[in-house]
Amino acid sequence: MSNRVIAIDGPAGSGKSTTARLVADKLGFVYLDTGAMYRSVTLMALRHGVPLSDGDALTKLAERINIEFRHEDGIQKTFVDGEDVTDAIRTPEVTAAVSEVSAHAGVRAVLVKRQQEYAEKSNLVTEGRDTTSVVFPDAFLKIYLVADVSERAKRRVKDFEKLDRNTTLEEQIADIERRDSFDSSRSASPLTRTADSIELDTTHLTIDGQAEKVIELYRKKLEESGE
Ligand code: C5P
Repeated sequence: MSNRVIAIDGPAGSGKSTTARLVADKLGFVYLDTGAMYRSVTLMALRHGVPLSDGDALTKLAERINIEFRHEDGIQKTFVDGEDVTDAIRTPEVTAAVSEVSAHAGVRAVLVKRQQEYAEKSNLVTEGRDTTSVVFPDAFLKIYLVADVSERAKRRVKDFEKLDRNTTLEEQIADIERRDSFDSSRSASPLTRTADSIELDTTHLTIDGQAEKVIELYRKKLEESGE
């Protein structure tokens, strides 16, 4: 793999996607949202009534659907089989179901392979739960983002407001804690901080501040590597 990969992992709401998107924009890298891929499989499973416990059926579904990212009107949108699902994959229903779907090893194998193919084509900033450990173990720079759970829940409430969905801080704290525990304790590629990841606490950082930090770490890494 000759392209450069910046991989960012961390728990729900730690700021991974906003940070990754901004860093990708600033460095001219492609942004790969691996969570959107797990969410896309989940959306289609819910629509087609595939049981969330049926790993084989979900794996076949993951193999069958085409997930694409396209830039339109300055934002990155997610398409499944040509349909714009950017908003549909962020609903509370999908969010509540996605951890169960993504715990199946078969589903992960299909999506991880597709994620690795992106790095064959371009420099990437990617984020998720296993991008530093399983998808890109040789990533050029690995970051592990953390933030207080109440701050993470506040960010989620704001995200839902943008979608015109009402939710409370308590609901979001409960959902985040449930997902974190599920994502960290599953047997297939659990969320972990690898020894070579640099931990960044975003609790008191602005979005620009988070991106600046990552870019600073990237430049330092470039200097160290003599590239
Ligand atoms: O990051 P986001 O909230 O969109 O991720 C949704 C869910 O997808 C996570 O809670 C996790 O269960 C799953 N996921 C994963 N591995 C990734 C990215 C996301 O298991 N690399």
